[in-house]
Amino acid sequence: MAFHVRGVLLPDDEERDLWLVGDRVTFSPVAGAETIADCGYVLPGLVDAHCHIGIAPGGAPIGGIAQAKELAAADRDSGVLAIRDCGSPYPYPMLDDDPDVPRLARAGRHVAPPKRYLRDIGAEVEAPEVPGEVAAQARAGNGWVKLVGDWIDRAVGDLAPAWDAATLEAAVGAAQAAGARITAHTFSEEAVAVLVRAGIDCVEHGTGLSLDLVDEMARRGTALVPTMINIATFGDIAARAEEKFPGYARHMRALHDGFPAVVRAAYEAGVPLYTGTDAGGGITHGRIADEMLRLHEEAGMAPFDVLRAASWGAREWLGFPGLVEGGLADLVVYAEDPRRDLRVVRAPQRMVLRGRVLP
Ligand SMILES: [Zn+2]
Repeated sequence: MAFHVRGVLLPDDEERDLWLVGDRVTFSPVAGAETIADCGYVLPGLVDAHCHIGIAPGGAPIGGIAQAKELAAADRDSGVLAIRDCGSPYPYPMLDDDPDVPRLARAGRHVAPPKRYLRDIGAEVEAPEVPGEVAAQARAGNGWVKLVGDWIDRAVGDLAPAWDAATLEAAVGAAQAAGARITAHTFSEEAVAVLVRAGIDCVEHGTGLSLDLVDEMARRGTALVPTMINIATFGDIAARAEEKFPGYARHMRALHDGFPAVVRAAYEAGVPLYTGTDAGGGITHGRIADEMLRLHEEAGMAPFDVLRAASWGAREWLGFPGLVEGGLADLVVYAEDPRRDLRVVRAPQRMVLRGRVLP
């Protein structure tokens, strides 16, 4: 079965025809193809570059693969046709080629410090075991390793690096030596500085980034996935922690307040930015449009650049070619031009995933 689509293709801004044959895109006409869209704006699908389909609502590991598929379906129905799974309590390589599931770029388990991170989610190891665990998680994922770079240290009463600087540096080296890219959860100032200078591939959240570090990331091409809808919950986290950990609460509020300026600086410096919702646990799946709109409204990103961060740019970064000859047969069609009004992304008109038209 072949499908035919006509519309304005983004990012090229050209009205043209394309055909989908199996799981591939072609611009050579295919006789007898069924036309599934003949106007509108065509993108190669959205990307949630920070998502967890292995973590159930509430923060516990999912009950099984069926639940992972259910969570992934909520993302897919919002136009997300590729996911970077940023850490899962157990691996699901069987979903990599599942026709119902968005394309998956997966980390293994979060590599986390002992007894500090979310219960039952991470592989918790002391400093000497970090490089070995990173290599093991590189094998469990399909191209990414996820580190917990900092978290609350209850003994200190504030955010603190997960391990010493030498261990963070060794983690970056171990992932890259294993052929994987590595990213890290960071909220505070200290760990992210070490990780960026050690050549980490990507930073998650990055609320503690300084302007110097933003420039360093731009120079190195280090990506940033700011997860603004996660950062919007910092006020609630601070309120819950206030009584026992007032210093932590104060720190979280300050990071929250300073964050739009960090993302704006990263954007202006040319840091590669990608959209991630951090769905799984506290954030529901399917909220990519909310993240896109925040990047536009709070961080000042132009709609075209938000679309790049959420679609073709992110796909290229993750290795999922878009609407090019021989590209993957994923696309989303919008009735109106999302460059004129980004809110259009809330209502996909037509979606094709892995060559199959979604209902
Ligand atoms: Zn996350």
